[in-house]
Amino acid sequence: MEAVHGCSKPVTVTTTDSCNTCDGSGAEPGSTPDRCAQCKGTGMETVSTGFFQMQTACRRCGGSGQVISRPCSPCFGQGSVKVKDKITVTIPAGVDNGVNIRLAGEGEKGTLGGPRGNLFVQLEVAPHDFFERDGVHVHVPLNIDVVTAMMGGTVKVPTLDGEETVRVTGGTQPGDTMTLSRYGVRRVNSNSRGDLFAHFKIKIPRTLSPRQRELMEEFKIHEEEKLSPKVKVSDPLRLTLNHNPELQTTFMATTLMITIASNLA
Ligand SMILES: [Zn+2]
Ligand SMILES: [Zn+2]
Repeated sequence: MEAVHGCSKPVTVTTTDSCNTCDGSGAEPGSTPDRCAQCKGTGMETVSTGFFQMQTACRRCGGSGQVISRPCSPCFGQGSVKVKDKITVTIPAGVDNGVNIRLAGEGEKGTLGGPRGNLFVQLEVAPHDFFERDGVHVHVPLNIDVVTAMMGGTVKVPTLDGEETVRVTGGTQPGDTMTLSRYGVRRVNSNSRGDLFAHFKIKIPRTLSPRQRELMEEFKIHEEEKLSPKVKVSDPLRLTLNHNPELQTTFMATTLMITIASNLA
């Protein structure tokens, strides 16, 4: 939700900074680094290997030509310390997994007094329990009861901005989808939004009361009749045929004509 609406997050960043105690020299305040006795301050060392002579960086001073006899205690003679910075990252609405946020001038100090670099914060968006995100679009399961599915009605849809009441049409099937345009996630640095898709799930009652069962039995009879219509005793057309001799005559005459016609063919 924070990714959807945007937020501010405190972040602790560890950067390397020049040691304040020794001013970056690594030597305890009041003392100065000594000239390396091994290389006499040259930083280079000559090593003989049989016929060859090689010049390498002095192994004692590491090539700096100086040895710190009294190392500065806060930085252990390194001249630099790790500092923890607490900074607040403003996260814009609509960000997604893997998005990098650039914080200018919040990175490591540059060497030799150069400007600080940029800090990049890579976002990891935790999935929501209910809303399923697909870029700027959002999917939600929507439970409706079987009567609403059959007859239609209104239903409350949870959205990123709260509940919305929507109309459901009669004859809604399990798995049908309803689109709520522009109810999705806001595009970063934009006012346009994705859509929300409600996926219908239809709740079937696990038990029926005796009266409900009775009604469902009746419902079943009507359903069967819809599928295979039978002429019932009370059918008005049938009654007419039986009780109106004139109509019956016409009907028989038509049959006769058809018979004659097929004999001629
Ligand atoms: Zn220091
Ligand atoms: Zn040396």
